[in-house]
Amino acid sequence: MNPYWLEGLKPEAAPLSGAVDADVVVIGAGLCGASAALALAEAGLAPRWVERGYVSVGASGRNAGFVLQGTAERYSRAIAVMGHERARRVHAWSRENHAAMAGAVSRYDIDCAYQKRGSLQLACSEDEERELLESAALLTADGFPARVLVGADLPACYRDAGFHTGVHLPDDGELHPAQFVRGLARAAVSAGAVLHEATAVDRIDAQGAGDVTVHTASAAGAGTIRASLVVVCTNAYAGGILPFFADKVDPVRGQMLATAPAPALFDCPVYADHGFDYWRQDEHGRIVLGGWRNLDPTAEVGTDETLHEGIQTRMVEFLHRFAPLRDVPITHRWSGTMGFSRDGLPICGPVPGAPGVMAAVGFTGHGFGFAFLAGKAMAELVTDGRSDFADAFPSRRFAV
Ligand SMILES: Cc1cc2nc3c(=O)[nH]c(=O)nc-3n(C[C@H](O)[C@H](O)[C@H](O)COP(=O)(O)OP(=O)(O)OC[C@H]3O[C@@H](n4cnc5c(N)ncnc54)[C@H](O)[C@@H]3O)c2cc1C
Repeated sequence: MNPYWLEGLKPEAAPLSGAVDADVVVIGAGLCGASAALALAEAGLAPRWVERGYVSVGASGRNAGFVLQGTAERYSRAIAVMGHERARRVHAWSRENHAAMAGAVSRYDIDCAYQKRGSLQLACSEDEERELLESAALLTADGFPARVLVGADLPACYRDAGFHTGVHLPDDGELHPAQFVRGLARAAVSAGAVLHEATAVDRIDAQGAGDVTVHTASAAGAGTIRASLVVVCTNAYAGGILPFFADKVDPVRGQMLATAPAPALFDCPVYADHGFDYWRQDEHGRIVLGGWRNLDPTAEVGTDETLHEGIQTRMVEFLHRFAPLRDVPITHRWSGTMGFSRDGLPICGPVPGAPGVMAAVGFTGHGFGFAFLAGKAMAELVTDGRSDFADAFPSRRFAV
């Protein structure tokens, strides 16, 4: 298990021990937590920020680095499930999230190989082709650029591998996910966030807004933080510390691999088979490829970051459909844990039954499409008491 993006990284910030007080605590140092900690620190609040491993060690440092628009569903399906107006607004939020991330790359001068080359969706069946074409028409009609590529318009490398139809979305992007999140974290700490790595939260006692105690454990000993408000950004792991999420956010595993530098072949992030399979070529020429979870969906669940041999084998077989890649060695294999919400949308806002606690979780495999704004939304809830983004994805929709 050697995640390509995390090589050489380990905890650096001092773990917490003993009892401290804070205005606000942020739990989790992935994209969402980094965004929340940064926005809170810039608002002058000096949040205590607790991570059980190190910044970016979760899904945020194990993904493919795609910055995509929309949810895990293609646009036509999203409209069928959510209704047209809601699907359009959710789609627009993800594009705003991308714009905000691109803004952060420049504002904080983050060296993360960010590029905006668009993304390519490929059809693997006639059904999927119909869905892609229908989605492309709906996207275009709603003012979201999408270009259909069929026949000779589809680059030869895809036709040679057996694909016939694709849709290019020119506004999508890609980046080194861990470097982006770590750049945000540096900015957050410079602005006043107090980060504790290698510090796991094992319990939150929410006595009431204004009086919440976070209990932690680390090699340095037990710790407590007494705070007015707590922001939970632990995505797939949310149910472990907040029972409300145990039956609302499911941990789901995704397999990944990376190759040695390969001949230039792919000029943007690509996904196929309804988004189950995805790959891109980074700035060093390495292919980063993941997915195929649908081959064994009942096994690919839970929070263990294990390799699935059958899926990894199938990923390499797929890679070899591209002739120039047949002799390129695989250098890295890893997995990561996503948090799938029961309706496929993020969950943001106050946590029912836990006064003083709010959460932004359940990004359903598309966190780099939503989690940056979700983290900012948590900070808005703390500083202003309201947030348009959080209002769009309220946790109360699941409350009983
Ligand atoms: C293989 C794979 C490929 C993916 N590809 C893409 C992609 O290309 N594009 C995209 O948009 N999304 C992708 N995703 C999803 C994306 O990575 C996530 O949606 C996103 O990173 C979620 O960010 P987060 O900050 O909410 O969660 P995470 O990055 O998982 O961060 C949560 C953090 O909380 C910490 N934590 C958990 N419990 C505790 C505790 N009790 N105490 C203290 N700390 C705790 C964890 O250690 C972790 O660091 C992929 C995910 C995987 C696994």
